[in-house]
Amino acid sequence: MDTPNTTPAGNFVRDIIDGDLASGKHQTIITRFPPEPNGYLHIGHAKSICLNFGLALSYKGRCNLRFDDTNPIKEEQEYIDSIKNDVRWLGFSWGQTEFYASDYFEQLYEYAVHLIKAGHAYVDDLNADQIREYRGTLTEPGKNSPHRDRSIEENLDLFERMRNGEFPDGSKVLRAKIDMASPNINMRDPVMYRILHAHHHRTGDTWCLYPTYDWAHGQSDSIEGITHSICTLEFEDHRPLYNWFLDNLPVTSHPQQIEFARLELTYTVMSKRKLLLLVKDGHVAGWDDPRMPTISGLRRRGYTPEAIRTFCDRIGVAKRKDSTIEISFLEDCLREDLNKRALRVMAVLDPIKVVIDNYPEDKTEEFETVNNPEDESMGSRRVPFSREVYIERDDFQEEPHKKFFRLAPGREVRLKGAYFITCTNVVKDSAGNITELHCTYDPESKGGETPDGRKVKGTLHWVSAKHAVDAEVRLYDHLFREIDPNKAPDGQDFTSNLNPDSLRTLTHCKVEPGLADASPGNRFQFLRQGYFCVDSIDSKPGRLVFNRTVSLRDTWSKLQKQ
Ligand code: ATP
Ligand code: MG
Repeated sequence: MDTPNTTPAGNFVRDIIDGDLASGKHQTIITRFPPEPNGYLHIGHAKSICLNFGLALSYKGRCNLRFDDTNPIKEEQEYIDSIKNDVRWLGFSWGQTEFYASDYFEQLYEYAVHLIKAGHAYVDDLNADQIREYRGTLTEPGKNSPHRDRSIEENLDLFERMRNGEFPDGSKVLRAKIDMASPNINMRDPVMYRILHAHHHRTGDTWCLYPTYDWAHGQSDSIEGITHSICTLEFEDHRPLYNWFLDNLPVTSHPQQIEFARLELTYTVMSKRKLLLLVKDGHVAGWDDPRMPTISGLRRRGYTPEAIRTFCDRIGVAKRKDSTIEISFLEDCLREDLNKRALRVMAVLDPIKVVIDNYPEDKTEEFETVNNPEDESMGSRRVPFSREVYIERDDFQEEPHKKFFRLAPGREVRLKGAYFITCTNVVKDSAGNITELHCTYDPESKGGETPDGRKVKGTLHWVSAKHAVDAEVRLYDHLFREIDPNKAPDGQDFTSNLNPDSLRTLTHCKVEPGLADASPGNRFQFLRQGYFCVDSIDSKPGRLVFNRTVSLRDTWSKLQKQ
C-alpha cells in the first residue's frame, strides 16, 4: 500500500510529452476526459480529470470533455449534467470542446464500411455465447467463425441492412477480421457493432446499430486530434487493437495511448457499477450521500476542490498496478486545507446543562474570540456567556478515572475564553441519569486566566444556553469496515462489508448563535470536534443540519494499528 510523501510524485506522462514536444512530433497537446455517462463521477475520476485538464493547463494545450455515450441502455441526461457540474466544481473548464461519441456515429459507420471493403471486417451470425465459445482462452487459440469468409459484397449488403433495421437485436454483429489465434484475446476478431433497437438520449431512434467501446474510443480520439490519450491500465492490452484500427483507416491523426494505474482507496469501492448498486438498493441516501466516494458526495460532505486537487497531485501518476492509497491520506489533505479556511466555533454535540450558581441571573457578557488563529484576516467575533451553559456530556465524570482531567465533582476547569468553574453539585432524575450540573465560577478568571496564574488541566468548549441554536449533526465513519470491501466472504458480495455504524445522527446539538444563519456549504471547525459543514440538501432556515466532514485527527488508523 502506498503512503505518498508530500511532494508531487514524478509523472512519467510529462516525460513522454516533453519528449514529443522536444522532438517536434507535436507543437501543442490535446488531451481529453472521456466519461461514460452511466453514473456519477468518483474520486478515481478526479485523478483522471486532474491529470488530463492539469496537463492541458500546464502545457497551454487543450482538454476536451467527451461523453463516451455508446451504450443507450445505461445512459441518462442526469449523469451528463452531474458530470459537467463536478468537473466545473473541481475547477476545470473545457471551453467550447464538449463532445459526444454519438456525434461520430456516422463517421464510425463509414470507417467500418472502409474496413469491410478492405477485407478487414465481416458480419457474423454467431450469437454472444457462441462468440465467447469460439474465442478460445488464454492458453488455447480461438476458432474461426463459419461466417468469417463471407464475400465483401455480402458483408456490405448485410451491414447496410443491419443499419436499416432488418434484423432483430443480437442476431448479427460486425467483427474486425484480425487473428483468432492471437495471444492477445482482444485481437481475436473483436466485435465492432451490435444490433440494439434502443432509443439513444441524443440520436433518438436514428440508429439500431451501436458501436462497441473498443471500436468507438480510439477513433473518437483520432477524430478530435487527441495527441495523448491517457487511460487506465486495464486498456493496456487493448492498445494493439486501437493501433490496428487506426493503421487500417484513412486517418490523419494517430493518438498515442498512455496507461496509468487506477486510483483505489482503502475502505472504499470505486466502480460505478457498485456505487449504482449502493444507490439503487438504498444502502445510501443517493449518489451524493456524504459517505459516498463520488465527487458530489465528497462535496456535500464538505470537501474542498482544492483538497481533492492537492490529493491528486500528491499521489502522482504511476504505471504500477497496485496503487491503493490509504483514505487517511485523502483526509489529511482535507484537514490541511480546512485548517486554513474554516472558522473556529463552539458547538456542543451531546449537551448537558451547567448552572453557574454564583453568576448573576440576568447578566450576559460577550467574549471576543478570534475566528482562525492560522489567519488573522478572518477577524474575530463576540460570543455570549450567561449563567447557564451547555458542555459536552462526556466532559464530565462523576467518578473520574485516573487520566480524566475534565470536569468532576469538586474539580476546577476552564470554559474556553470565559471563566474557571468548579463543580459543586450533580442533579439526577429518578432513573439516575445526570440532568444538570451546578458550578461556581471565579470572577477573577475572566477571559480564561487568573491573576494568581492558577493552572487547570481541562479546557472545555461551551455554548450559552439561552443564546444557543439547535442543530442536527451527522457523524460519518467509513462506509465499509474492511480495508478492501471487494473481498467478501464466500457466497456474499461487497455489501456484506458495509459498516452498520457509518452514520450517526445527533439531533439535540447546541451551537453558537452566530451559526443561526450559516448557509449551505459553509465550513467550520467545531473546537475539539472536527470540521463540519452545513448540509446542502437538508439544512433549511430554522433547521440547521451539519455534516462532520472529517475529525481533527485520524483516530481510525491509530485504532486499527493497536
Ligand atoms: P468505473 O469502473 O468506475 O465505472 P470507468 O473507467 O468505467 O470507471 P469511465 O466513465 O469510463 O468510467 O471513466 C472516464 C475516465 O476516468 C476514463 O479515462 C478512466 O480511465 C478514468 N477513471 C475511471 N476510474 C478511475 C480510477 N479509479 N482512477 C483513475 N482514473 C479513472
Ligand atoms: Mg468505462
